[in-house]
Amino acid sequence: MTEKLNVVPFVSVDHMMKLVLAVGVERFLTELSAYVEEDFLRWEQFDKTPRIASHSHDGVIELMPTSDGHLYGFKYVNGHPKNTRDGRQTVTAFGVLADVGNGYPMLLTEMTILTALRTAATSAVAAKYLAPKGADTMAIIGNGAQSEFQALAFKALLGVNKLRLYDIDASASRKCQANLADMGFDIVISDNAQDAVEGAHIITTVTADKQLATILTDNMVGTGVHINAVGGDCPGKTELHKDILLRSDIFVEFPPQTRIEGEIQQLPADHPVIELWQVMAGKAQGRSSSAQVTLFDSVGFAIEDFSALRYVRDKLIDTGLFEELDLLADPDEPRDLFGMLLRAAKASAA
Ligand code: NAD
Repeated sequence: MTEKLNVVPFVSVDHMMKLVLAVGVERFLTELSAYVEEDFLRWEQFDKTPRIASHSHDGVIELMPTSDGHLYGFKYVNGHPKNTRDGRQTVTAFGVLADVGNGYPMLLTEMTILTALRTAATSAVAAKYLAPKGADTMAIIGNGAQSEFQALAFKALLGVNKLRLYDIDASASRKCQANLADMGFDIVISDNAQDAVEGAHIITTVTADKQLATILTDNMVGTGVHINAVGGDCPGKTELHKDILLRSDIFVEFPPQTRIEGEIQQLPADHPVIELWQVMAGKAQGRSSSAQVTLFDSVGFAIEDFSALRYVRDKLIDTGLFEELDLLADPDEPRDLFGMLLRAAKASAA
C-alpha cells in the first residue's frame, strides 16, 4: 500500500468486484464473518452511537461512524425502496477508514457491494449462534439486491443448501434463482410467503417497503425456527407481525439503534432483548432449546462496516486493486498551505 502522505487508496465498484471475485464470494464472506466476529468480541472497546439518519418522504440517508481508538470508520448509506423503479439501487454506500492518531483517511471505498456482503456475513454469524442445529433449509422473502449474498453467507457458514424463494415480484425470484444456479443449492420458487416458509429452519425477510409491512404473520412461524429479519431497518419500516416478536427471543446489534429502527420499535422500550455480542462472548445464552423461536432483528450497525473496511484494507495489500486519490493537501511546509496555492498558480502560468 502507498506511503505517500497525500494519497488515499480508493476502491471503485469495479475494483471491489475484482477483489471479491479474486478472493471468491464464499471465501470473502467467510473471512469477513471472522472480522465481524472479532470486532463483536471486543465490543466494549468501540465508540458506539445510533446512526445519524436524515429521513425524507421516500427514503433515508444515514451516516454510521465508530472507532476502536486506533482506527475510525464511517459509512454513508441510503435506503430508498422506490429507487428500483428508476433503475437505481435501494441501498448504495461508500465508506472511509482513518487513522485515529493523525486523522488521515487510509481508505475510501465503494460500500454498496460491501454492505450486501457485510449484512449477509453478520446475519450468518448471528445464525451460527441462534439457528437450530443442522439447519439446511432457508426461506428468503424478498429476492432483491441483498438476497443472493444472504444465501451464499448461510451456505458458507452454516451449510444451508435448500432455498425457498418468495417475492411479490416473481421476476426478482427468477433472477435470484438464475444467479444462484450451479452454486450448490436446491431452489424452489413459491407463490406466496406461507408456502415459502413451510419446512424452513431459517426464515430470512429482506424486503424493501417504506411502511409497517406484515411479511410474516404469527401462524406462519413454527416452533424452533430462526428468523433473520433484515428488511425492517428504519422508523415506520418493519416486516414482522408484533405477535411473532412477543413469542421470540430477540437478539440485536446495538439496542439504542434497534429500538428506533428495528422490528422492536413495535414493542415497549423496556421489552427485553439480548445483545448479539454478549452471546458471542459467552455472557448471554443464544439458542437454549429446539422449540425456541429466535429472532435476529438486524438493522445494520457501524461496527459491521468498520469490520468490512478493515478487511478490505488488509485484503488490498499487494493486489493493486485500487486507485490513488489525491485527496489531501500536502505542502512542503505543513503551515504553508497558501504558498502551495501560489506555487501552483506560478506553475500553471509558466
Ligand atoms: P431491493 O429493492 O433490491 O429488494 C427488495 C425486494 O423486496 C424487491 O424484489 C421487492 O419486490 C421485494 N418486496 C417488497 N415488498 C415485498 C413483500 N411484501 N413480500 C415479498 N417481497 C417484497 O432491496 P435490497 O437492497 O435487497 O434491500 C432489502 C431490504 O434490506 C431493504 O429494506 C434494505 O433497507 C434492507 N437492508 C438492511 C440491512 C441491514 O443491515 N439490516 C442492510 C442492507 C439492506
